[in-house]
Amino acid sequence: MKPSVKKIGIIAAFSMMAAACSQNAITGRSQLALLSETELQTMAATEYRQFLNENKVVSANASKDAEMVRRVGQRLTAAINEYYSGKGLGKELEGYKWEYNLVDSREVNAWAMPGGKIVVYSGLLPVTQNEAALAVVLGHEITHALAHHGNERMSQAMLAQGIGAVGGVLTSGNPKVSAIFNNVYGPGAQVGVLLPNSRKQELEADRYGLIFTALAGYNPQEAVPLWERMKQMSQGQSPPEFLSTHPSEDTRIQKLQDLMPEALKYYKPLQSSK
Ligand SMILES: [Zn+2]
Repeated sequence: MKPSVKKIGIIAAFSMMAAACSQNAITGRSQLALLSETELQTMAATEYRQFLNENKVVSANASKDAEMVRRVGQRLTAAINEYYSGKGLGKELEGYKWEYNLVDSREVNAWAMPGGKIVVYSGLLPVTQNEAALAVVLGHEITHALAHHGNERMSQAMLAQGIGAVGGVLTSGNPKVSAIFNNVYGPGAQVGVLLPNSRKQELEADRYGLIFTALAGYNPQEAVPLWERMKQMSQGQSPPEFLSTHPSEDTRIQKLQDLMPEALKYYKPLQSSK
């Protein structure tokens, strides 16, 4: 009996998945990765540049808020480098060219693209309220990038749409792949269907995000009141953009409290931090 086309498709998808699974350096979890990180970082750099050109970037020389975003960013970058080199994983960060920019926007949002391209929207700052809570959000978003969650989500979407990278054929330049990239990462997320992060990804982002926050010298415990503020906003008239990919359920706050003892082991308060 001839196998049906559908069956062949399923077999092809599974063999592709087997070939394209890789173990993540930080989480140790095996995940689907149809795109190479280098390829994603190249796409991210282009999209990031375009986003900055099309939006109002607040100069760090002229604004205390932008200066704070940069300062939190520098501390987080140093903490992440320290964590990775401590585990002999320094090579993982080789392609990273970290950038932190504040854009003038009422949106309550922030995101990080592969390769360390980070944006904070000024509308987020009244919700974070302090530097440590901003570090919590950024640590969380950066972990999504470091743990290759975007790659995983893009790969799942590519499989669902029948776009493969069989035999290592590069898929950049493919308009369908660009559309998926824009759905998964911040700037284009308002276009098309949003792909929310999975619970597993959220837990990983919370766990390492808190560790990086603590290592950067900020109190990770600020995460709890921060998510309580988010939760309150989600019940209001205009829920934060951030919550379209991050549901503010009660279990999250409980999980953050469970993760806290581990994160606090890394916490060395900075004299100058608030
Ligand atoms: Zn998240």
